[in-house]
Amino acid sequence: MTEIPENHPRYFSLLTRERIVEGVNLGITSMQGLIAQGRGECFDYLLGEKTNAFAEKSETVAAAMLILAEKPIISVNGNTAALIPEQMIRLSGIVGAPLEVNLFHRTDERINRIINHLKDNGATEVLGEKGDEKLPLSHGRGTVDSDGIFSADVVVVPLEDGDRCETLVNMGKKVITIDLNPLSRTSRTATVSIVDNVVRALDGIANAALEMQDWDREQLEKLVESYDNKATLKKSLAAINENLRHMADEVL
Ligand code: ATP
Ligand code: MG
Repeated sequence: MTEIPENHPRYFSLLTRERIVEGVNLGITSMQGLIAQGRGECFDYLLGEKTNAFAEKSETVAAAMLILAEKPIISVNGNTAALIPEQMIRLSGIVGAPLEVNLFHRTDERINRIINHLKDNGATEVLGEKGDEKLPLSHGRGTVDSDGIFSADVVVVPLEDGDRCETLVNMGKKVITIDLNPLSRTSRTATVSIVDNVVRALDGIANAALEMQDWDREQLEKLVESYDNKATLKKSLAAINENLRHMADEVL
């Protein structure tokens, strides 16, 4: 990996980029994943490169939903495998949600590389190799495990594709997405959209889950029921507007 000086003003952003490039070099991230990361970085810039209050709220609601779930699961793709293997494994352990590798550009070779990469980072069991069920979708991301995403009631899908998110919601599942673009079809169709960078959001969900572990079901259900996803997306757009106004009026 290229050495990034720690005093560089964009240290964290550059480090994240290096991790994604490393993922491509290891054969776990697709070339298309680089483009997706670039689009995400642009929105992160507009959002102030921090976890905003509305995202923190979504992360707390996501945590409550995962604690309440009967059969939760976390979907892993080539970008998240490269960027946040430890954070996904940590969240998986805290809320009891297994990991399942699910790829848009699916090949058995890449699935196995990602499973091995997660195991090298400490995962004990990773689903996704079987691929014995199909979601009603034409591309590779429709292939899922019968005892994983197919039968789950709550699915965490960091960096989701819009069609697939909609398909999962239409199957009656609760879908938690993490997507820096509040305008994507994914953000607009998910049950809970976390408009935050995956490098921050997974720990946000995990820490919220730890804080709420002694709450009773009723309290958790109340929190989930009070959540309004559309209002969250509107708040994220308002934050972008505010940041742009601040830049134009006071920074330039
Ligand atoms: P949709 O199909 O939902 O409309 P899209 O086509 O706009 O989505 P894709 O290229 O399919 O987007 O997926 C990439 C999405 O992931 C982008 O919306 C991007 O903002 C988001 N993204 C990329 N990197 C990150 C990251 N590190 N954290 C959070 N979101 C990210
Ligand atoms: Mg897309």
